[in-house]
Amino acid sequence: MEMHDFDVIIIGGGIAGASLGAEIAAERRTLIVEAEDHCGYHSTGRSAAFFLESYGGPAVADLTIASGNFLDQPPANFSERGFLGRRGAVHLSDNGWPELPSSVATHRIERDELEAMIPGIRPRWTRALFEPACADIDVAALHAAYLRQFKRAGGEVRCGSGLQRAAFGDGRWSVSLADGSALESPVLVNAGGAWADRVAEACGVEPLGFEPKRRTMVQLRVGRSGLKDLPLIDDAAGTFYFKGEGEGSVWLSPHDEIPTDPCDAAPDEIDIAIAIDRFEAAVDWPVERVERSWAGLRTFAPDRLPVYGFDLRVPGFFWCAGQGGFGIQTSPAAAKLAAAVLLRRDPDPMVAHIDAATFSPARFD
Ligand SMILES: Cc1cc2nc3c(=O)[nH]c(=O)nc-3n(C[C@H](O)[C@H](O)[C@H](O)COP(=O)(O)OP(=O)(O)OC[C@H]3O[C@@H](n4cnc5c(N)ncnc54)[C@H](O)[C@@H]3O)c2cc1C
Repeated sequence: MEMHDFDVIIIGGGIAGASLGAEIAAERRTLIVEAEDHCGYHSTGRSAAFFLESYGGPAVADLTIASGNFLDQPPANFSERGFLGRRGAVHLSDNGWPELPSSVATHRIERDELEAMIPGIRPRWTRALFEPACADIDVAALHAAYLRQFKRAGGEVRCGSGLQRAAFGDGRWSVSLADGSALESPVLVNAGGAWADRVAEACGVEPLGFEPKRRTMVQLRVGRSGLKDLPLIDDAAGTFYFKGEGEGSVWLSPHDEIPTDPCDAAPDEIDIAIAIDRFEAAVDWPVERVERSWAGLRTFAPDRLPVYGFDLRVPGFFWCAGQGGFGIQTSPAAAKLAAAVLLRRDPDPMVAHIDAATFSPARFD
């Protein structure tokens, strides 16, 4: 059996593993291990692809806002073009004014303005907040740019065989993969997404209680045109969102959160039906057909904040998990913050104002 030595082994090649890897590969000999045949097959490849500062509460908003400039105008050696396409978001309410974190710029919209902005909006929606900074993210390009930076800095990626078990001894992790190969490194990063607790268990580390939750997306063809550049439209109470995809189609979600064991998630017919029902209660646009649908898992820690940091009980075990529904939009700041903790160095200016303790696994002890 061949044995391979690294400084850091990252389990999981989604946006979390790729972005953290890209931040550390120049300083540590790093390997990303991805169980699937290609990186990004699970949550990272299934997102709704938007950047929404108000999403996830104030601590997540700090990470999102800190990531905005990088996503919009990345350094030239990272990408020749930005990853954001400005769209704006409308948070609808049929009651009072929606409440959002005070750090997020918004303005109020009354019914007449709403009608001009979204022709066909149902009468029940009387108020809304407009969030101008909301944007689409080119997720595939961002993920590819992180993997490119990782490899350029000397990082290696190994797909097609996952971690089966690992044990710590003599200052090192001995890692066995499903294909029988063996690896060693002093630091093991758990970026296993929905499998974060399963990865921990396979390493003899106590799980933190992550919950994967299924979310459904539907691409609907509707009898309207000119939808492509509409804002993201959501119910501030959290029962649906949709955004224009093509001239006559939308991406729609029923905002579902179905607790699910980690798996290759697929949409359920009932969730697609619920999505269409809520869409029809939002606008009078005739639904023509479902063009496609998919589902993915959003994985949350018990307090719904991500977890970045070394486990307190087991040496060299680093958590990079619980990115919920915000793992793409927060990835630049989260990767810089996690890299500073992992390398025990001063944080990058992008995240110098953010307290890493907020996201430390120590909060669960
Ligand atoms: C429908 C939907 C809409 C979303 N919309 C948005 C959005 O608009 N904006 C946003 O910012 N975020 C959004 N998200 C959330 C975002 O997609 C996730 O937070 C993010 O992709 C999580 O990245 P990850 O790398 O942690 O997980 P993943 O991309 O799932 O990567 C984890 C990887 O670990 C691998 N793995 C697991 N176990 C092992 C093992 N034992 N050995 C080796 N590899 C292993 C898996 O194969 C997987 O590839 C959405 C998610 C969903 C599902």
